This record gives sequence, C-alpha cells and structure tokens, in this order.
Amino acid sequence: MYTSVNSQGKSPLFSVAAEVRRAIYNYLIPEQLHLFTYRDDVRLSTCVKQKGDDDPDCVPRNPLAHVSRSISDPEDPIYVQRLRSSWGEHWRCEEAALTRDDINFRTVETGWFDQFVLFRVCKRMSMEIAYIMPEVATFHINDPLTLRVLGSQATSHPLTISAVVDGVQSNLRTLHINLRLPLGTYEQLEDVYTSPDFESAPLGITSSVISALMALPTALTQLRNLQNLRLWLDHSDTESWSMVNERAVITSLFQPLCEQGSNLKIDMDLPKLHPKWETSDRHFTPDSAPPPFPIHRRYRQRIYGMHDQTVKHAPDFPYVAHEAFVIQQHEFPSEDPGEMEMYEAWEREVWKRGGDVELELIGHQLVGDHYLG
Ligand SMILES: [Zn+2]
Repeated sequence: MYTSVNSQGKSPLFSVAAEVRRAIYNYLIPEQLHLFTYRDDVRLSTCVKQKGDDDPDCVPRNPLAHVSRSISDPEDPIYVQRLRSSWGEHWRCEEAALTRDDINFRTVETGWFDQFVLFRVCKRMSMEIAYIMPEVATFHINDPLTLRVLGSQATSHPLTISAVVDGVQSNLRTLHINLRLPLGTYEQLEDVYTSPDFESAPLGITSSVISALMALPTALTQLRNLQNLRLWLDHSDTESWSMVNERAVITSLFQPLCEQGSNLKIDMDLPKLHPKWETSDRHFTPDSAPPPFPIHRRYRQRIYGMHDQTVKHAPDFPYVAHEAFVIQQHEFPSEDPGEMEMYEAWEREVWKRGGDVELELIGHQLVGDHYLG
C-alpha cells in the first residue's frame, strides 16, 4: 500500500534503530487525541479538556461568569454555543478543533492541524507515527459519523489518513466514545430495536446517524487490539435523561461486544436517573438486572443553550443544588459526596411518596430552612 513512500535513506533520523525513533515519537505524541470528521475529511486534534470542564453548572464555559451583570443582559454567544456542544465535557476541544480559521485547513495538505507537524515532515515519518500513535494515545470520538471510520476500508482514504485508519484498526488500545445526541436519536434507536420487524428491517430506511450507531458493534470488532472502551452518553434536550430507554438502546448497541468473550474492558458513564421516571424495565436501576458492564452515574449538565441565544436552567436529578444556586439565598451547596447524598436521599423520598420536589421547595422558600436545618 505504501510503495510510493521514499525510504529517506540519507536522513540521520532513519539511520538509527527503530526503537530509538519510537522513543523519540513517544515524546512528541499527545496523550489524548480526538478523531473526528470535518467536511468529510478525517482529522485529529489534541484533547485540551481541563479540570472542571465537566462542571454540571457549566461555569467554566461562561466567559462572563465572573463579570457583574444584570439578569436582563444578553448571554455571551460563545457561552450559548459551548452549552450546546455535542462533544459534551469536551466542549473546549470542539471549540479548539472546529473554530480554527479556514486558512489552516486549506494549507495543510493532508488535513491535519498545525500541531501535527509530524505528519508534514515526510511520508515515512507519517507512516510510522500513524502506527505508533494509536498504541500510546487515548483516542476520543465525539460524533456518530466518525464511528464509521473505525470500520472503513483504510485504502478508501488518502495516503496519510489511510495510514492512521490502518494504525487505529490494528493498534488502538484505548478508545473513549463521548456522544451527546438529540433525545430524538435515542427514541429512534429505541423504535428500531423494539420493533417486531427489527430483524428484517433494512438499515437503509434509517438515517445515516442511526445507521452509524447501529454499525458500531461491527466497527469496533475491526479494532483488533482494543483493550479499553469507555462510553460517555447524554442527550442534548432539557428533558430528563430518564426519557432514554437504556435497556433497549444501550444493551442492543453494546451487548454484542460483551458476548464476544474478548479481553475488552468496557465501562460506561451515564447521567443519574430521575426517581420520578426510572423504571426497572427501561433503566439500569440498582434493584434490577445488572448491565453487562460497570456504570458510573454522574451529575448531568444543568444549563442549556437555546436556539434563541438564551440559556435555560433545567436540572435533572438532583434538583435542589440548582434551586439553591438560582435563588441565591444561601451559599451554593458544595458538591462534596456527603452533602449531595443527603440532597439525593431527600429528593428520592419526596418522589417516592408522590410529592414534587420543585413544588415543595417553592412552598418552603428556603432550601436551608427546609432541608439543611
Ligand atoms: Zn478532549
């Protein structure tokens, strides 16, 4: 496939042992990389996620977070855009990857960003880097259509990209898939997987996104040395995460991987379930049949960027932290585990007896008086 690559026999770099070059490359390859598609091209960018970027209240996303403003002041458009990021907690990485000016895209022959000068030295170095990189770096994928790259024919891409795809398929060790999809996408998947005609339904009737998601188990089998797979899921609507039928969608998508009996370690990061909506037949609840992989539950994003450039506070579960934040009559409750567990236990108890947390808080006015005493 790579017969056109110059061996660079006069280069001092290529006269040293391969192990030495490999050690040099290891110093230069970022630890975390995003693989994504842009205008139908496959691209890479460095992960620039910072500590705190997963803040449920999205404070780091707001450029005006520490500026004194009136409640009627318009929101910063950058803040709204970041809240809408389909890359979830990697919103900073999406911004870094996709908002670079077009000059960079046009001048980089192979489609890589400027920081990937390694791919612009010579083809032989590109080939070697492309093979070593998936072994030493964690790869992140944040959109369904890029998932198709995993199962694609390497030779169907331009030379450098085909080398990366080939390297990923033969050498990738750790893959993180982070998907923040519209709620409607999960509902479409649920419809497909729960349809009595599922086995016979042709994939051609579904959208390209649905097709790409349904092809994921097969695509992942192309990664012959994959050892660790982490899946981070959310939806981008203001309704509760619990509207998603976890058992229909997640089990259907990932059960085939678990049944392969391979050494692949899978773990999943999902939002906390809402006690009002969770059911054992639709969700992985603590008292129902366990999923085939460990699940970590997190606090979900509580603030959303709307199409009219406003922001909306829409806490899922628990609600009380948001309420205290909004009324600002008490200090914002810390999210230390003990305190948040108390909030959650109280809210669960309210929902269990048929109450409504929001109404009860309004009735008592003050979170602290009512709950914290
Ligand atoms: Zn990132």
